[in-house]
Amino acid sequence: MQFRDLGAQYERLKPEIDHAIASVLADGRFIGGSEVFALETELANYVGVKHCITCGNGTDALQLALMAWGVGSGDAVFVPDFTFFSSGEVVSAVGATPVFVDVDEHTFNIDPAKLEQAVSYVERERQLTPKAVVAVDLFGLPAGYPSIRKVCDEHNLLLLEDGAQGFGGSIEGKMACSFGDTSTTSFFPAKPLGCYGDGGAVFTDNDEWAELIRSYAVHGKGTMKYDNVRVGMNSRLDSLQAAILRVKFKAFREYEVTDVNARAAWYDTALEGTSLELPQVPDSYTSSWAQYTVRVPEGVDRDALQAMLKVQGVPTMVYYPKPMHEQLAFKDRCVVPLESCPVTDQLCHTVLSLPMGPHLSEKDQLRVVDELRFCLANA
Ligand SMILES: *Cc1c(COP(=O)(O)O)cnc(C)c1O
Repeated sequence: MQFRDLGAQYERLKPEIDHAIASVLADGRFIGGSEVFALETELANYVGVKHCITCGNGTDALQLALMAWGVGSGDAVFVPDFTFFSSGEVVSAVGATPVFVDVDEHTFNIDPAKLEQAVSYVERERQLTPKAVVAVDLFGLPAGYPSIRKVCDEHNLLLLEDGAQGFGGSIEGKMACSFGDTSTTSFFPAKPLGCYGDGGAVFTDNDEWAELIRSYAVHGKGTMKYDNVRVGMNSRLDSLQAAILRVKFKAFREYEVTDVNARAAWYDTALEGTSLELPQVPDSYTSSWAQYTVRVPEGVDRDALQAMLKVQGVPTMVYYPKPMHEQLAFKDRCVVPLESCPVTDQLCHTVLSLPMGPHLSEKDQLRVVDELRFCLANA
């Protein structure tokens, strides 16, 4: 059994994907070109945002957004303590300081009340200038944007939506990657919309930022590539990945988001009555289910349970085993206001992500639940 079955997806889309790849090879244009342009237009339309700028990966997408805002040394950027490393890495990469904020135990996303406390704390301390919030749509669920936006408005902060895992989710019909002043996603193969390598995208309604991001992504180009007006990076989505993504994006829109939600609903029902805490989706929110993440109860050794499941042939993952503020890379280079992040600490010891994806078979899903029930009873 695969944790995420990309092979099954390829089997289903093989003729179209093979054709798309062959077309790019025949065309001979490997960077930029019509496939990249068409994909950007399709993505922007789907998300409901004016500009989509594709780039090399989801980490670069975040960094480009911060660069376009001029975030740097002396600035504080608020980041959830429970997320993938990139969300905070980019803050340090541009010279700013990440301030880690605890998350909500039910949604796994940044806790707006604790965000408010953290911003007030940094304002009082007067060491750093509060500049921006990175809100992450963890495991596919959009963060609590109505409340987060209020905090940003009150404190004059820019909002960056890290939608690397959230693409395809929504709140009241408004799509993920449209909630930030700038939003980003990743096309890493295992993300909700993945390519066959690295890729990413930035979304914004702001014309000026969009132009800056296009410049920063191509060596700080001015009127053309050999006129360099700022120091940037080299971060582009290549034509092959764009062509592959256009095929996959069609499937994503037509049935994958629906199918993955059906798998989640099936897990919800099948795991009811176990001691596991199941993932929760607030009213009017939809998730794109990058992960289906349960929490094991107090007293159950999560790592032992995972090892037992592995022996039974059920792959699971721990996203994430370590709070951001405990990563060695941030030692003495981050701020954690007040008394640390207790919810994150607890989640790091109790979360377990189950095999998931729109192509997860009924047979495999049944086995996951059977083995999980068996191992829980014997753990
Ligand atoms: C995967 C991921 C990223 C980075 O995306 P890459 O394309 O791997 O660089 C950033 N943030 C979150 C939350 C992610 O899960």
